[in-house]
Amino acid sequence: MSQLLLGIDLGGTNIKTALVNDEKQILAKESRPTNAQDGVEAVLDQMAEAARAVAKEFGLPLEDIAAACIGAPGPLSQEKGVVYSPPNLPGWKDVPLADHMSHRLGIPCIIENDANAACYGEFWMGAGQGSQTMVLLTLGTGVGGGIITNGKLLRGVDGTAGEIGHMKVQGVGGRTCGCGATGCLEAYASVTGMLQTAREGLESGVASMLSGSGDTLTGETIAVAAAGGDEFATDVMNTTARWLGIGISSLINLFNPEKVVLAGGMANAGEHFYSTLRKTAASQSFEVPANTAQIVRSTLGNDAGVLGCAGIALDSINQ
Ligand SMILES: [Zn+2]
Repeated sequence: MSQLLLGIDLGGTNIKTALVNDEKQILAKESRPTNAQDGVEAVLDQMAEAARAVAKEFGLPLEDIAAACIGAPGPLSQEKGVVYSPPNLPGWKDVPLADHMSHRLGIPCIIENDANAACYGEFWMGAGQGSQTMVLLTLGTGVGGGIITNGKLLRGVDGTAGEIGHMKVQGVGGRTCGCGATGCLEAYASVTGMLQTAREGLESGVASMLSGSGDTLTGETIAVAAAGGDEFATDVMNTTARWLGIGISSLINLFNPEKVVLAGGMANAGEHFYSTLRKTAASQSFEVPANTAQIVRSTLGNDAGVLGCAGIALDSINQ
């Protein structure tokens, strides 16, 4: 009989749960609100209930599941199974999440950083399938990501590796990042960074459909204006794509990946955005790894995390 794995993606808004077998078939899946405001115990109970619900949907007892992995927002220690104090889970402080869930479910449970889980999902079942070395970048309010080398997540000594968004792309005089440092990729290539690029241009008085949009300026309105032929909006998109390409060029030189997978809202940008960033990445990196690295869109979307957790659970029992 094939092995059954449980993936749980604990987000600030929703808990996603999936039952997957070791042949990568999704047997059952569900999503329910986290209700984070109800506190730690209530959220743990919600996760346990979700686990029971997917097992029941597939018609088997929880004990038949070989292992579970919970993807949670950091900071956390994967090794210790402890979630420290994620900003979007109020009241959580040094919660031994792996132990709590093993106790509630009666099966082995481990935890993983949510960005790493999404990276593993794309590697195991999505756009990175078939590769051994890949990088994932999630492009949203910030830039997150994960790195897989030789089929394994790169975690580093303290488990903090893979902070792709905080790779420096601009030296002295770079923008200040949310992390407190300057010149990070996130300060330029996230949606927030793109908005700053647009605002700086608009404040200098350029003529654009976006002029006077103030607080209504979003990544979406920039993309729509660019698609409508607005020159300034197109420039903003190109600038953002070039920053991203510069960041990716370093990843190509450092890791020689087969795939660089882009996820998150901005990954849905059009072909022009991709061709600009591909050109920049190729021009700024060595020829051999640049020719190998395929820069592609994620295929799992919001399910990458929960499916990655199932894959990580499988990896944990096969070690
Ligand atoms: Zn930073």
